[in-house]
Amino acid sequence: MNAPAKSSKLIKGATGDWEMVIGLEVHAQVTSNAKLFSGASTQFGGAPNAHVSLVDAAMPGMLPVINEECVRQAVRTGLGLKAQINLKSTFDRKNYFYPDLPQGYQISQFKSPVVGEGVVAVDLDGGESINVGIERLHLEQDAGKSLHDQHPTMSYVDLNRSGVALMEIVSKPDIRSSEQARAYVTKLRSILRYLGTCDGDMEKGSLRADVNVSVRKPGAPLGTRCEIKNVNSIRFIGQAIEYEARRQIAVIEDGGAIEQETRLFDPNKGETRSMRSKEEAHDYRYFPDPDLLPLEFTQAYVDELKSALPELPDEKKARFISELSLTPYDASVLVNEQESADFYEAVLGALADRRRDGKLAANWVINEFFGRLNKESRDIAASPVSAAQLGAIVDLIGTGTISGKIAKDLFEIVWMEGGDPRALVEARGMKQVTDLGAIEQAVDEIVAANPDKVAQAREKPALIGWFVGQVMKSSGGKANPQAVNDLLKSKLGL
Ligand code: ADP
Ligand code: MG
Repeated sequence: MNAPAKSSKLIKGATGDWEMVIGLEVHAQVTSNAKLFSGASTQFGGAPNAHVSLVDAAMPGMLPVINEECVRQAVRTGLGLKAQINLKSTFDRKNYFYPDLPQGYQISQFKSPVVGEGVVAVDLDGGESINVGIERLHLEQDAGKSLHDQHPTMSYVDLNRSGVALMEIVSKPDIRSSEQARAYVTKLRSILRYLGTCDGDMEKGSLRADVNVSVRKPGAPLGTRCEIKNVNSIRFIGQAIEYEARRQIAVIEDGGAIEQETRLFDPNKGETRSMRSKEEAHDYRYFPDPDLLPLEFTQAYVDELKSALPELPDEKKARFISELSLTPYDASVLVNEQESADFYEAVLGALADRRRDGKLAANWVINEFFGRLNKESRDIAASPVSAAQLGAIVDLIGTGTISGKIAKDLFEIVWMEGGDPRALVEARGMKQVTDLGAIEQAVDEIVAANPDKVAQAREKPALIGWFVGQVMKSSGGKANPQAVNDLLKSKLGL
């Protein structure tokens, strides 16, 4: 199931090439209204301690009650990662002291997580794709937040996040470059967003990663890893890996050895630095939480969730390729973000013949539409052109009513002024001229006026392009280019 990553990007050191080995532990906040073991709200941005129940504040004698919705979301995520769903799993206490962890332990899953091995297919630039193995996914509680900058001599604590459900998604050490790591997190985030199990908002901390990095000579056994904690953007994940791999190579080539340790990434300096070494590592003294029964599901429950899963990016991409003949690249661009895929599918919905025009629609969505949004730094929701309007434009091209060139003008008008594309084409006389008589007249005029070019074209048939251009120009871009081409060929005797 876990085809190893193919494209390793090697780093040249003083002693030869080095390969980086990377495994990620991604913490994804579960989309749910209430916390994992209490009814308190998970809403972001409340006043400090506005969303804290007695359970979250760990008042003596309070008992956790499992939130069924969080469990359902974890199982759905496991299914989306093509992973083993464990019909029986248990919660454990992970004991450590933290000012923002009032229980003195975190409820997590250690020995038997809810989800076992799975796989994520990751597309890389240049058309290659790799499989990254998933080791496990378990449910755990988030901690609160200490605030050290509110008072000169005291620290405050905000427990709003305390008890919020997280899924920890642990990858196998299958990743071989920072590009692969970034592509993996991007893909994982996309799957979570399609599933609706995590909003993937890294700015709000809904998705963050612990990044494990080691280096080795190609083919050598795995090296000792360092773990960079809590990296909260995809760009920083890439930077942290690049820095850390080079740091480790320098240490080893200097005759030193890598000690397993936990490090922090400093985005301002672009460096990682030591936080704690293995000797100081916590012994968490895990044991099964006596307040919680094991989680048990029936296979029927799992099967029902599986059959109700939405179409995920890989399947959508395959369908776009097989049904609509899109290139793998175009299909990827369209499925990466759910919003893009939804928009494209809405455009398809406005076409009379999606099999004929699906590919044309993809070109228009990717080039004209996304291009224009990019230029104006807008997202799809803020677009002045709707999917129905763009679909109508594509339909007008597909049926031969307007030329591709005129369609660009029409798109511009609809973007700036709005309106029904079909009505605009009628009202402004933008229809393509397919009337052969009219085109023939224009062709004859151009041919008659340019005897020298005609002679050249007979020698060098590629010059027909110049004639096509002239005829198109004289028709205001409205002549049907295919008809122009055909007529010119016969008139020039090519
Ligand atoms: P821990 O709790 O000690 O962090 P986990 O099992 O939760 O251990 O996570 C280990 C992570 O480290 C996984 O993502 C795994 O792929 C990765 N990993 C394990 N060995 C190596 C290695 N030699 N180099 C890089 N990453 C590694
Ligand atoms: Mg870990």
